[in-house]
Amino acid sequence: MSTSPATFYERVDKAIGNPALQAAVRNATSRMSSGRDAAIAAFPEMDVMRDHARAIRAHTIARLDHYLREFEASVQRRGGHVHWAATSEEAVAIVVDIARQHGVKTVVKGKSMVSEEIELNPGLALAGVEVLETDLGEYIVQLDDDHPSHIVMPIIHKSRHDVARLFRAKLQATDDEVADAPRMAALARRVLRKGFLQADMGISGGNFGVAATGSVCITTNEGNGRMTTSLPRVHVALMGIERIVPTLDDLGVMLQVLGRSATGQKLTVYSNVMSGPRRHDRNGGREGESDGPEHFHVVLVDNGRSAIVGSELAEILYCIRCGACLNSCPVYQQIGGHAYGSIYPGPVGAVLMPALQGLHTWRDLPQASSLCGACREVCPVRIDIPRMLLELRDKTTELGLTPIWVTFGLTVFRQIATRPALFRRAQALASWATRRLATDGWIKSLPGHMARWSKKRDFPAFAPKTFQQLWEGRKR
Ligand code: SF4
Repeated sequence: MSTSPATFYERVDKAIGNPALQAAVRNATSRMSSGRDAAIAAFPEMDVMRDHARAIRAHTIARLDHYLREFEASVQRRGGHVHWAATSEEAVAIVVDIARQHGVKTVVKGKSMVSEEIELNPGLALAGVEVLETDLGEYIVQLDDDHPSHIVMPIIHKSRHDVARLFRAKLQATDDEVADAPRMAALARRVLRKGFLQADMGISGGNFGVAATGSVCITTNEGNGRMTTSLPRVHVALMGIERIVPTLDDLGVMLQVLGRSATGQKLTVYSNVMSGPRRHDRNGGREGESDGPEHFHVVLVDNGRSAIVGSELAEILYCIRCGACLNSCPVYQQIGGHAYGSIYPGPVGAVLMPALQGLHTWRDLPQASSLCGACREVCPVRIDIPRMLLELRDKTTELGLTPIWVTFGLTVFRQIATRPALFRRAQALASWATRRLATDGWIKSLPGHMARWSKKRDFPAFAPKTFQQLWEGRKR
């Protein structure tokens, strides 16, 4: 799916032309990146932990069918239900069905990228079910009829003043209620509390599913996840099929690397591990649980994932959605998340979207990278994103999806670059031409297809002498 009908390049132009957006994204990403660096510096075991985390993810994805079956059996043993959704339509239909079976009219929902992926909220609205997002960022996104622009911080693209304007318009907030961030959070909390108390069903994502125990783990910093999953009488957890870990010990490793990589925290504030519905004491005595849902459902969403297992892109299924690759990416820092047009933006999205939905829809995303390797450096499970971006670029060419002017340009370049005499003459010509076009050494606007390059920055004129000419001069 795309969040906008504009092309990738139109969205990028819009983002680059928006200094407020760029400042907001740069501030947030650099804050997150420094937080991560500090947390890792204070944890010398991190390197070993990352290797361990990668080994767990690799082992699990290689035996995914086995662990999924084990997870299903464990959930059932604890009185829960597992539903399998091959597509997003099936996933939405399953959740709508569960809502109908339990006479659900209102839903409180925690943050879940899979729910964005399958477009759950519009599906529930069509079925007459009212959904309230309870993660503060997601609530703001919902109020503004917007989309998240980061997988961990959904409103990275908005300033405090944007939120204040929104609360005034949509919640009729007074000046005092939007005077600062804590007061705005308090206002949102008052609205959300009512929602928690009235909701018939809670929908959460699932950071991890534990095969051995049938537990679903969700991590949040706001406590909304705990309220969403324990107050309403029905809990539905939505998870991509790849989010399985074999044991609770493995979960412990994942939580250690997740919090540090995502937000620079030792652990996310609330790590909730839920195993089945509320347990009742058979004799009505004190042994039963006093809270938790009466009904516990897990919806396992495939939606293209099983086709990635065993492919050259399988490594992307190791991802634990920490967002560190987005924060470190120089492209994401410039354009933010909406410019990608995809649910999963940044380096992880540039691989995951084409892997899930094909290059015909997402051919531009693998190009949105300088291949600097920053994403690989920070990834807690050491996913080699640059390698997969190159695989996807190759595939784009194989499928004939590369723009004709790029193919033509590269063919001409190969002809010139493989003939030294011609290459030297071309260099001299380029130096002469660029210096003629330049003012004070810089070209404001390049001709033809190259104009896009100079749209937002100047292009330097080539040096009067090439490196080889300078080298020859030194030898004499
Ligand atoms: S690819 Fe790695 S760094 Fe990026 S979100 Fe996934 S786990 Fe985090």
